[in-house]
Amino acid sequence: MQIDQHSLIQAANHYANRQDSFASGKAQICLNLATTLDQYGGFVSEKQANFATNLIKWSIPHQAQVVRPIALPKLYALVKNQNLTLHLGQCKLVLFGSGVVGVVNPVFGMGTYGVINADGILSKLAKCPDSVVAILKDVEVRGLDAVKEIGRATGRCSVCSRTLTDPKSIELGIGSTCIKRFANYREPSLFV
Ligand SMILES: [Zn+2]
Repeated sequence: MQIDQHSLIQAANHYANRQDSFASGKAQICLNLATTLDQYGGFVSEKQANFATNLIKWSIPHQAQVVRPIALPKLYALVKNQNLTLHLGQCKLVLFGSGVVGVVNPVFGMGTYGVINADGILSKLAKCPDSVVAILKDVEVRGLDAVKEIGRATGRCSVCSRTLTDPKSIELGIGSTCIKRFANYREPSLFV
């Protein structure tokens, strides 16, 4: 690691722009050390040189964690275009007035797991379980088939969550009234 005036001044700038307690006062120390270097051409001790090295090292911002966005454009289109609420077992998809699709806990008042924006990008909150993401990805890939499958597994309509009673609805996973919502649904163009 290069310990020169330039590096110390750069480190000072990093610390000066931070608000955390660790950074507090360190910009000034870096500038003092840079001045020492300038005046004496070196540090007074090995200890001071090591401290300068560490100050530069600590100032470097952590590599931003690269999070690959989860894209669910087909799922978004399914909810948006059909103007649906979908009950998917562990989560419920609701179309918000703003045009985003909310991924919420199916138990009323238990909160939101995240939102899917108009570009189909999921912004998930920390409390969103991986199992919910897995369900969303499954519906993204398999479309209505995956939605029906959840209804079959839960015994509840995937749209309105009412208990399925007649054999045909149970087989479909969606009730006879709700399935009409899909009358104009064009599966092939969305789910290829
Ligand atoms: Zn229904």
